[in-house]
Amino acid sequence: MIRAHAVINRAALAHNLSRVRELAPTSRVYAAVKADGYGHGAVTVAQALADADGFAVSSLDEALQLRWAGIEKPVAMLSQQLDATVCDQAAEHRLEIVVFHDSQIDALTRHVGPPITVWIKLDSGMHRLGFASSRAEEIETRIADLNTVAIAGWLTHLACGDEPSRPETPAQLEDFFAATQGRTGLRSIANSAGVLAWPVSHVDIVRPGIMLYGSSPMSDRNAADCGLEPAMHLTAPLISRNRIPEGEMIGYGATWRTPEDMDVGVIGIGYGDGYPRHAPSGTPVLFNGVRVPLIGRVSMDMITVDLRDAPDAKVGDRATLWGGGLDVDEIARQADTIAYELFCQLTPRVRFEVV
Ligand SMILES: *Cc1c(COP(=O)(O)O)cnc(C)c1O
Repeated sequence: MIRAHAVINRAALAHNLSRVRELAPTSRVYAAVKADGYGHGAVTVAQALADADGFAVSSLDEALQLRWAGIEKPVAMLSQQLDATVCDQAAEHRLEIVVFHDSQIDALTRHVGPPITVWIKLDSGMHRLGFASSRAEEIETRIADLNTVAIAGWLTHLACGDEPSRPETPAQLEDFFAATQGRTGLRSIANSAGVLAWPVSHVDIVRPGIMLYGSSPMSDRNAADCGLEPAMHLTAPLISRNRIPEGEMIGYGATWRTPEDMDVGVIGIGYGDGYPRHAPSGTPVLFNGVRVPLIGRVSMDMITVDLRDAPDAKVGDRATLWGGGLDVDEIARQADTIAYELFCQLTPRVRFEVV
């Protein structure tokens, strides 16, 4: 009997990439597959998205995983520190490096051997990674002087793209366009929120992540509104069903009490599988199309649910925790987090299957 089970749907991934293409028809697409493809399996996702123009990962390890799997498309490392070994590996495996700090230029200056392709990351206002926009010319000149390094173009990242009315995004766009005006190379700004809400940010290359997995980053639109399909369907079996008298406690801490004699179900998934412990009573779980509320605290191996609206659910039936008719973004909101984190925190105990 399979416990927690995540089915990864290649057709949904491909569909979501085609949505990106519809929204940004003249841009190349670097699909973000960092953090093991947002918990979906980086190689699985990259193979399903074979039509992408390239892939974006965080680190050298993640990039090499794609190369070892035979993925030949461009791979850019978004937040990888550099030393001689990393530079050698990047050159040997044709990995593109995002340069955001002087220490990386020092390492590039010492690089000998096959040339390395780099992107210069500018800080247009988020103040996480990147050179101050005012340094664009200086950085470009220093890197252009290196014989073994080629500049592919310019990157920046949006802090508030998911909230369409925020003034920070136009300010960031203006800063970046001003800093890169007239400079050679491609430009890339948009994450999923940029793809969905800021057409002016699409420019040469878009870098969507979360929308490829079927989650909407937007505060004002759900995944279906965005034309996205869930790439993951997470299920677990009902392992017990019990009649509990009125006024009894359910689970650790006795945080929920039965308002009447009622059936309580136990589903074989918990925070040990990555189901969020902070999902409160009322968080929906789906049984054969019927939503039933989680009740009481999430345990390591189990959750308890109110089965009053699912009289036919029987031990062995599988419940949907997200995907397959239950929007992962709704579960994320309930648990006071984001779908990115729910995907990333699934544990190795979850059995994965690709269809
Ligand atoms: C993760 C990441 C993306 C993709 O972001 P989504 O919100 O998942 O679309 C794009 N660019 C950079 C620099 C990133 O780190």
